[in-house]
Amino acid sequence: MRAEIRVTGIVQGVGFRPFVYRTAVRNQLRGYVRNLGDAGVDIVVEGTKDAISKFLSELKSKAPPQARIDTLKVRYRDAEQGIREFKILGSSDKVVVPGSVIPPDIAICENCMRELRDPKDRRFRYFFITCTDCGPRFTIINRLPYDRENTTMKDFLMCPECRREYEDPLDRRFHAQTVACPKCGPKVFLTDNKGSILDVEDPVSECGKLLEEGYIALVKGNGGFHIAASTLQSEPILKLRKLKSRRQKPFAVMARDVRAAKTFALIDRYEEELLTSPVRPIVLLKKREGYYLSEEISPGLHTIGVMLPYTGLHAMLFDKTCEPAFIMTSANRAGEPIVTRNEEAYKKFGSIADYFLIHDREIANRCDDSVVRMHSGSLRVLRRSRGYAPEPVKLKWKAKRNVLALGVDTNTNVCVLYQDKGFISQYVGDIEKVETAEFLEEAAKYLMKITNVEVEAVACDLHPTFNSARIAEKIAEELGAPLIKVQHHYAHIAGLAAEAGIRELIGICCDGFGYGLDGKAWGGEILYLNENEITRLAHLQPQPMVGGDLAAKYPIRMVAGILRDTEDIYSWLKNRSALLPHGEIELNLILKQLERGEFTETTSCGRILDAASALLDICHERTYEGEPAMKVEATAYGGRRVLKLKPQMEGHVLRTTELLEEVYVNLKNYSKRDLAFSVEEYIAEGVASLAVDLAKQHKVDYVGFSGGVAYNEHISEAIRKIVEKRGLKFVSHNSVPPGDGGVSFGQAVYAAEYGK
Ligand SMILES: [Zn+2]
Ligand SMILES: [Zn+2]
Repeated sequence: MRAEIRVTGIVQGVGFRPFVYRTAVRNQLRGYVRNLGDAGVDIVVEGTKDAISKFLSELKSKAPPQARIDTLKVRYRDAEQGIREFKILGSSDKVVVPGSVIPPDIAICENCMRELRDPKDRRFRYFFITCTDCGPRFTIINRLPYDRENTTMKDFLMCPECRREYEDPLDRRFHAQTVACPKCGPKVFLTDNKGSILDVEDPVSECGKLLEEGYIALVKGNGGFHIAASTLQSEPILKLRKLKSRRQKPFAVMARDVRAAKTFALIDRYEEELLTSPVRPIVLLKKREGYYLSEEISPGLHTIGVMLPYTGLHAMLFDKTCEPAFIMTSANRAGEPIVTRNEEAYKKFGSIADYFLIHDREIANRCDDSVVRMHSGSLRVLRRSRGYAPEPVKLKWKAKRNVLALGVDTNTNVCVLYQDKGFISQYVGDIEKVETAEFLEEAAKYLMKITNVEVEAVACDLHPTFNSARIAEKIAEELGAPLIKVQHHYAHIAGLAAEAGIRELIGICCDGFGYGLDGKAWGGEILYLNENEITRLAHLQPQPMVGGDLAAKYPIRMVAGILRDTEDIYSWLKNRSALLPHGEIELNLILKQLERGEFTETTSCGRILDAASALLDICHERTYEGEPAMKVEATAYGGRRVLKLKPQMEGHVLRTTELLEEVYVNLKNYSKRDLAFSVEEYIAEGVASLAVDLAKQHKVDYVGFSGGVAYNEHISEAIRKIVEKRGLKFVSHNSVPPGDGGVSFGQAVYAAEYGK
């Protein structure tokens, strides 16, 4: 009998054809397998019925770790065509059809790790050891199809031994475009900060030793440079903070292995799975009791971002040291993208780093590490980049049109939506400087090119002065496509619904700031989404934001505005006026502006958490995005509810003044921890009960939660419990970031479904 099989999903560049070959031969089948131009695979097998059915079940159950089968269609024929053996054929055509999927970077696999450590293996201690199951993909691909000449490996001519493996269908490195060895592959060098090569036997482990001694090094990886330093000494970290003007923002660390990570962080089985997964993201973990790494790594937070080595190079850094982990943070200057070129690295970081660990392979696409966190066993992606990008998010329906979305101006990325696939680019960053603006445009154009999608509309934020919106306008004009401006929180909720595959829900969006339809600063919204439209049904109480952006930077301004009518608040404010850049003069000006009504208003949930942060003396200045709110969460960890105040409603508005007043009058009665905890509970209960009431009123089964505040585990879980207790279904993000990194996806969905 004969079976003709079509497989779609991620089946190219992941060792799928050799796997099919081995499985077919093992089952004594004849036929062939070949790649198709649409990134799918075509298989024909001839043999007994039993052998074919065993083959099919093994295709599904034993596929290579990185392969993902979306569909598998089989047509059976009684008549065989007398094929004599099983063969792997060349690609059927080299045409790239729209919506092709290129694989993301994959962390080093167990087999390669074993060979790296095997003195008898010819790749013993070769820092860029890879195979078809692992290694860089996205970061080396210039164009499709994914063949060596289209990658940055084209500069390295395979030696005869590597070529033999590359051409042998039974070899693990058959058609592995990254195949290389010490003889023919990229080379690694250790240099001083002027670029002079140091004569050492093993540059990688030597670099690790220098880190242990307290030096700072720049380390080139697959998608860009990291700044590396010891985690046990505060001195290099403080130096780094000073030189990078990064006062408080946490640094990620790379731990030697899971065992080492467990000595300073709490790791449950879900987190362990994530840490060791082929994505190998930075996982935010709770610091454990007896945490002994430097406090300067993530000051004021109860979490630390940890990842494990994801290339041979990273693993070898630990070889000659006793360090449990190294600081490993993206090498980028404030507001600029991560550095990828060697010359640029010396130019920008020569004065910060003592040593440079570089290699001679170019980086085709820069790609920062991904950041994730678990909420009671469910995944939240904070930054979707290495290991994910540009693998698409699958939708349950086909979008009405193809859209390119440019996101926002902070923590952003771009998205190409094509039918039922949302391709989200790597992390781009904050669009403040020319360099990042250029990167955003580049990332957009590259994504359109590799997916080969003809874009029918371009989407961006409603904000009138966003750089991302300006770039969107330019691209729309070049393409002759309409430009669709999407309200920030509408994008969040449209994205949430599409990711969950539902057509109707009440969406809670708690966020920092988004430009509202009325021109005001929104950020605590309850929206109703159905097939025809999205509407705003409820929100947080509008509060004064004296000085606009300054109120986000110095949360005391929010306290002054919210509690302006509270008795004797003046003395509290006056006692803290030194925390404002211009002291008492500034405070008096703020009070005058409040009196005269010279301020804009905001419904932002983030600003309420900021105000609580100042009121509890947790954080008085935001030195990085989300800092005060994150420190409130850290303070509240392990707390209990002490404030009896029930959420105060005024129609469809959740009042927040009473909450802050209640905290203020109880400052001396309870601990910071319990007050911070109570603030989070009030907000969660308030928005959840508003949303549930509205859902019942509109006869909707689902309540969703999105926006930057959705990273807060306590608030997120509290909302989920209330929603479920009242008999509705709770929806949260899974593979799309709830914060700004998910906006481009949501904009694209909105523009496709609702855009005019
Ligand atoms: Zn491998
Ligand atoms: Zn070689």
